[in-house]
Amino acid sequence: MKLYPNHYCENITTLTPEFLKENNIKALILDVDNTLLDFNLKIVDGLKQWHDKIRENGVKCIILSNSNKLTKVKMVADLLDIPFIKFAMKPLKRGFKMAQKQLDIPFENIAAVGDQIFTDVIGANGVKMFSILVKPLDKKDLWMTRFKRPIEELVIKSYLKKQVDK
Ligand SMILES: [Mg+2]
Repeated sequence: MKLYPNHYCENITTLTPEFLKENNIKALILDVDNTLLDFNLKIVDGLKQWHDKIRENGVKCIILSNSNKLTKVKMVADLLDIPFIKFAMKPLKRGFKMAQKQLDIPFENIAAVGDQIFTDVIGANGVKMFSILVKPLDKKDLWMTRFKRPIEELVIKSYLKKQVDK
């Protein structure tokens, strides 16, 4: 069992098209919880712009989440206009293989991005994909959330709900 990621970074938005190209990565499998969304359902800053940029560079994305919360996972997938697989049971290989099939890109040209070694990294390594570990959003944002005004959270939540109901 290989525990180490091929790459470790602060945040998903630091992954540049150049980096992906250098590593022969043509598609990304994205985790949701703590990778794209924090505990308060706040989306990582700059996610849409980052995704637009890598899409312009021909990189395909799909969401692979262990969550069984359809509304939450679909909300992020719809925001980026990409397909999703929920209740993936990572690190089991099944979900990664389903994602690979949908992407229609060889395993060795796919990177899986997530915040957990025992689900995202081990799963990706097990099917010989490139594994990218990011710092979990929540730990990093702890001091921020502590100071965040409750009213602001309510606004964000209702905004997110609207996106889902669209
Ligand atoms: Mg996660």
